Amino acid sequence: KPIVLSGCQPSGQLTLGNYLGALRQWVAMQATHDCLYMIVDLHAITLRQNPAELNQACLDGLALYLACGIDPNKSTIFMQSHVPEHAQLSWVLNCYTQMGELNRMTQFKDKSQKNQSNVNVGLYAYPVLQAADILVYQANEVPVGEDQKQHLELTRDVATRFNNIYGDVFTLPEPCIPKDGARVMSLQEPNKKMSKSDPNTNNVIGLLEDPKILTKKIKRAVTDSDEQANIYYDVAEKPGVSNLLSLLSATSGNSIDSLVGQYTDKMYGHLKGDVAESVVNLVKPIQSEYARIRQDLPYLHEVMHQGSAKAREKASETLAKVYKAVGFIPRA
Ligand code: ATP
Ligand code: MG
Repeated sequence: KPIVLSGCQPSGQLTLGNYLGALRQWVAMQATHDCLYMIVDLHAITLRQNPAELNQACLDGLALYLACGIDPNKSTIFMQSHVPEHAQLSWVLNCYTQMGELNRMTQFKDKSQKNQSNVNVGLYAYPVLQAADILVYQANEVPVGEDQKQHLELTRDVATRFNNIYGDVFTLPEPCIPKDGARVMSLQEPNKKMSKSDPNTNNVIGLLEDPKILTKKIKRAVTDSDEQANIYYDVAEKPGVSNLLSLLSATSGNSIDSLVGQYTDKMYGHLKGDVAESVVNLVKPIQSEYARIRQDLPYLHEVMHQGSAKAREKASETLAKVYKAVGFIPRA
């Protein structure tokens, strides 16, 4: 079976963007792939986190993975920091990544611009740790949203460079970007992607938010104030309406074309009401599963404990291969 690796940061509550871009694919791929899904806590500290909140967000994320349908009997589920090989391989890969390559990463540019008081080396090297996450498992496929495409390309470049020097050490991974929901946009600023770490919570649809609040937020989403309030899909001219159409399409399964036909003579309010209903229908069963699982701490600990033990078997194999390739003496 092909190997799949992916993760979300515990940098806030998971969003509908995370679900449509990543988690929904993760669930589906369990049937056909050998899947590893982690909470990337090491990545989360590239922005300053409150320790108590980070601790809870890790458990929340894990419970939410399970509530969405990630099955510990099928997939390996773990905390990134429980598998030290990620950080170890990341160091090695730092030495095979050029600063010029990292300078081009748009996520670094965005995040450093938003947080000018804490542009740390970890934020800069984030894509190298991500490359290590993927390569340490020899992953074939990486299901992610569109925003991660550039990092995947870097991963392939670094792996290719390493392989060219030392032989076939790493498998080259392919990104798996879904057809619908690969780039969910913010509700109030539909020109930027929805992000769980956005301080403006009105931009974000949290998977665990009260359906009443979700409905209110969606009804207040920015639509575009051109002369006629027509509903059609045009990301450049009507980013807000287009985002709502995409959301409805991705959550209902109807194509955007058929939706546009359905809403031609309707008002924005109709569309928003239907988006809200469709989103609430999607999150409700996830929320009730979550409530059940989140309180069972012994179970959550058992899942992550078993997951990291399994993950380490594979990861330590790759790390040993890498250390040998570069010429380190085995610890014996
Ligand atoms: P942060 O603001 O902390 O970076 P995030 O919402 O971007 O949070 P990540 O943990 O960075 O979430 O990413 C987890 C997964 O969700 C990745 O696969 C990413 O591509 C995907 N993803 C993130 N935002 C979106 C979005 N708006 N639409 C679709 N997929 C998304
Ligand atoms: Mg992100």
